[in-house]
Amino acid sequence: MLPVKGFIQTSFLDWPGKLCSILFLSGCGFRCPACHNADLVLKPDDLPDHSLDRILAKIGKRNQWLDGITVTGGEPTINKRLPEFLQALRATQTAVKLDTNGSNPAMLTELIRKRLVDAVYMDVKAPLNRKDYSTVAGVPVDVRLIKRSIEILRNSDIEVVFRTTAIPGLVEEPQLREIKNYLGVGRPFILQFFRNKRTLDPSFAEIPEFPAARADAMRAEFEIRPGATEILARTG
Ligand code: SF4
Repeated sequence: MLPVKGFIQTSFLDWPGKLCSILFLSGCGFRCPACHNADLVLKPDDLPDHSLDRILAKIGKRNQWLDGITVTGGEPTINKRLPEFLQALRATQTAVKLDTNGSNPAMLTELIRKRLVDAVYMDVKAPLNRKDYSTVAGVPVDVRLIKRSIEILRNSDIEVVFRTTAIPGLVEEPQLREIKNYLGVGRPFILQFFRNKRTLDPSFAEIPEFPAARADAMRAEFEIRPGATEILARTG
């Protein structure tokens, strides 16, 4: 079974409206300089494994008031055994949300077809062109894969949220406008904001974070919060 490299038993913040547990898997094909999970990406062998049996036992005990489990990383979809892993979580009868960078559309198709996920939150890192995407992801990216993942999720019947991390100098208002125009208004779109603590590229620790007022203005201009898509659909 896949090694679990981090476990948060309960979080009110990760899956809006739900109390959930969070499981962290290791490895990722990207090297985003602003990543704040560098150990999961670069040196997972230095992190201890959590016993999945013990986690499942804990989740099982809390099942009546736990609404869901988030599987995050790193990038969970790089693991070939992810379907088997999610099947084991399914046995707890708890809803499952997957976080992904959208680099593996074939895996997303399989997970949706086998009904192994109830929700997918996909990071859309930059405008959908090779140059911008590769800069923010820190490696050359085939954006056709990212576009394919967006398409698969847009056409699925599960809960989908797209999200982008605003990063000073890389992903600011013009880039957010391009990303939102590409995604359209059919699914929620939420922002996260660059933090200069524990970045994968140490030089990013020198970059000042956005001031709160600018972050609020970006949220107001770009976000489509979960629930707002129904209102947009009703009002055309
Ligand atoms: S932020 Fe980038 S490098 Fe870090 S886990 Fe996500 S996709 Fe991978």
